[in-house]
Amino acid sequence: MTRHDVVIVGGGIIGLTTAWNLTSTNPELSVTVLEKEERLAVHQTGHNSGVLHSGIYYRPGSNKATTCRAGRAAMIEFCRANDIDHDICGKVIVATGADQVVSLDALADRAEANGVKARRVSVAELRELEPEVAGIDALHVPDAGIVDFGAVCRTLAAKLVDAGTLIRTGAEVTSLSEGIRDVRVDLAGAEPLRADLVITCGGLHSDRLARHVQPELPERILPFRGEYFELKPERRQLVKNLIYPVPDPRFPFLGVHLTRTIDGSIHAGPNAVLALAREGYRWRDIDVRDLAEVFAFPGWWRLAASYWRTGVGEYYRSLSKRAFVAALQQLVPALSTDDLEASPAGVRAQAVSRQGELLDDFVWSETSRVVSVLNAPSPAATASLAIGQRIADRAVAHLT
Ligand SMILES: Cc1cc2nc3c(=O)[nH]c(=O)nc-3n(C[C@H](O)[C@H](O)[C@H](O)COP(=O)(O)OP(=O)(O)OC[C@H]3O[C@@H](n4cnc5c(N)ncnc54)[C@H](O)[C@@H]3O)c2cc1C
Repeated sequence: MTRHDVVIVGGGIIGLTTAWNLTSTNPELSVTVLEKEERLAVHQTGHNSGVLHSGIYYRPGSNKATTCRAGRAAMIEFCRANDIDHDICGKVIVATGADQVVSLDALADRAEANGVKARRVSVAELRELEPEVAGIDALHVPDAGIVDFGAVCRTLAAKLVDAGTLIRTGAEVTSLSEGIRDVRVDLAGAEPLRADLVITCGGLHSDRLARHVQPELPERILPFRGEYFELKPERRQLVKNLIYPVPDPRFPFLGVHLTRTIDGSIHAGPNAVLALAREGYRWRDIDVRDLAEVFAFPGWWRLAASYWRTGVGEYYRSLSKRAFVAALQQLVPALSTDDLEASPAGVRAQAVSRQGELLDDFVWSETSRVVSVLNAPSPAATASLAIGQRIADRAVAHLT
């Protein structure tokens, strides 16, 4: 049975940045990355808004706040060093009603506590930044930007392979068995492996991977699909950079926004509805096992009972383009349904407790020989180099 020092499960941006941090400081380690798909980064990492977040939103001192700031800086440096397109274009967070101004005040305080630059702008200044936006108050956040996370992953993978890391695609891990001396890694249709340490970075399957070694793990991943529309090329001038609403502080999602991507297209979304499969990118993608697990989980019913009103609104916007556009028109009134065409959706992996709480922060857990990333939602792509550093540090602590 082939033996490795470290096996990393998951070839999304968290698995790759963890491998990168680990091998950069410990080149003597034999590290293998296992990805079940034929290509890397095809799930959350390949289906996101491509925004480099500034770190404004997160609870001061939380993993999200600290890794987002450090990770953003590291990501910009990595992009510069490797010629990867990115643009620190800034964004506006726009209050469209008087009730949102208090939340905007709270966000301005949070920016200060997190050391993130943010400036209150007048309606006239807002119009200069984004001429088509209707708002009564706004924050301008100059450090937000855009990047192609897919290109980041391709570069990371190429560098890892050059430095001797083995990356195996089409390699699905079916179970992990932790022993005293090592961990046995079973694969679908291939020989098992053995590793001194395993790190799981499984995104939408992170709870299942962790449960192989922590069967009592109380949290579950719920998959929330986020649908997007794209502005027709002739209407792209409606949006210059990144336009966000004031987020509802009860949820970790940021609300439907308008963002420019690195290829110049403008995306609108995402909303948030329960996906009918962990990798359910369309309404017709249904997985009976995934759904049965959701409905058997008390956390889902408690979450649904607390937030059913918001949920109904999200479903309505999912089924009705007109309703989706109405939400966008609060930010950009000149938008019409004819301006938008459907664009591929993404599915967020969101850990939920048995009590029905959405876990807000990045979470990882450890047994003697397995480090499991459990919750790495947005802004984990922005923060990935810093998250990867923390996970790599934990791995080294286990190995020494
Ligand atoms: C709609 C949407 C918009 C977002 N927007 C942003 C944004 O603008 N900015 C930002 O910073 N973040 C954003 N995010 C969040 C960000 O994309 C994710 O936090 C990040 O990509 C998570 O990376 P990951 O490696 O943990 O997960 P993933 O990219 O999902 O990778 C996990 C990998 O593990 C593999 N895997 C799972 N199980 C197994 C197994 N048993 N064996 C082998 N391989 C396995 C999967 O196939 C997958 O490739 C967004 C996310 C979504 C969904």
